[in-house]
Amino acid sequence: MEETLKLLVVDDDEIDRMAVRRALTEAGVPMELSEVSDSNDAFSALNTSSYDCVFLDYRLPLQDGLTLIKQLRSSKIKVPLVVLTDQGDEEIAVQLIKAGATDYLSKSRISPENLAQVLRSAIRVYWAEMQATLAQEELILKIQQLEKQQQHIQIQNFKLSETSQLKSHFLATMSHELRTPMNAIIGFSQILLRPKFGQLTHQQTDMVERILNNGKHLLMLLNEVLDFSKLEVGRLDLKAERFDLSKIINLVVGEMRSLADAKKLSLFVQTDLQNPFVVNDPVRIKQILINLLSNAIKFTESGEIWVEVQELPANRVTIIVRDTGIGIASKDFKRIFEAFIQVDQSITRKYPGTGLGLAIVDSLVRMMGGKIFLESKLGIGSMFKIELPRQIPLTNVADDPPTPLNEEGIFYSAKNSHQSSQSRQASIRYPKFKI
Ligand code: ADP
Repeated sequence: MEETLKLLVVDDDEIDRMAVRRALTEAGVPMELSEVSDSNDAFSALNTSSYDCVFLDYRLPLQDGLTLIKQLRSSKIKVPLVVLTDQGDEEIAVQLIKAGATDYLSKSRISPENLAQVLRSAIRVYWAEMQATLAQEELILKIQQLEKQQQHIQIQNFKLSETSQLKSHFLATMSHELRTPMNAIIGFSQILLRPKFGQLTHQQTDMVERILNNGKHLLMLLNEVLDFSKLEVGRLDLKAERFDLSKIINLVVGEMRSLADAKKLSLFVQTDLQNPFVVNDPVRIKQILINLLSNAIKFTESGEIWVEVQELPANRVTIIVRDTGIGIASKDFKRIFEAFIQVDQSITRKYPGTGLGLAIVDSLVRMMGGKIFLESKLGIGSMFKIELPRQIPLTNVADDPPTPLNEEGIFYSAKNSHQSSQSRQASIRYPKFKI
């Protein structure tokens, strides 16, 4: 059964109103029809109750249909509006539609079929428009919500980056401040071990040596944190100079041989460079190799460790560190280069460390315009391969003069030898000492 429609006819001419009523009745439209003769009554009728459709005469006595439509729309009164025009009012009809009328019909064309068809189509068009408007409003609301969320995320991101900077600043300040007393501990224990300051008993010597070794270990950790925090905020510069790469590699391997010997591991080095000279930061190259080599020694219980340096096409060189250690599962390949990540994160883990070594290597290699490759199999061993340009990009390079080598092959800075000797130690990773 068709629903009864609540309709309103607004016309000052009673005969015209009757014509509409008759046509709709003849068309069999189930309806409840109200009639008013001027715009004031129409406005108050529409204000007090809702209608399914309004038939509106364009020529009304107090104000014309166009003004009434504008008034209704600005009062947010929503209803399908069919304007009944006189013959020759087509131009006006276009204006009426633009102002918000749903449809129009010339009074001369009023017939049961025409009026019923215009009524049905006006209601259909009106509801389609309403749905489109609703969808549009919903869309606008969603866009506004999204914009709000975006703003929220931006604020959170800003806060996060601020917190991260504060964390880096805190780490940098703390590790820097802790290095001074640490250097005093190391310095004074070294002095105590010198014979000219008096002979220590065997037990005393053992104790001072432990202070010295643990002090060095702590200093190494502090320097690692300091380097990492500097790298994180992009405040670590490379000091590029031309140097003999084979020499540095042999030097580091020599420095670390005792650690491999202590675990009865064979340590081999093979440098195969026609031209051994590269332009890079020797301190940082040393740091990369020490980090990789100390890991290789730490994570290998028996077997061999190989350090190889080779020439590559396109003016590049490669440094390879291979071991026959515990290996790494391929699912962990990416993770282990993240800061503070270790394959074994448990407190009871067998191998000590901060989890910063590879993160530092990764950042340094990137700064140098190089790449790291990892091949590994659990229980078989690992191979870390670093490919570097023979000359690093100069954008990451500090303006400081190059650090010359002293006669022991150790780097020092002519400008600030104290600070440089600290950063030199930054790169050395000592094994865990007995306490
Ligand atoms: P740390 O050595 O201080 O734990 P790193 O960043 O140097 O931190 O290494 C992260 C992790 O990667 C190590 O904890 C270890 O799980 C794994 N790893 C690194 N090098 C090796 C290696 N040569 N053999 C096996 N595992 C390794």
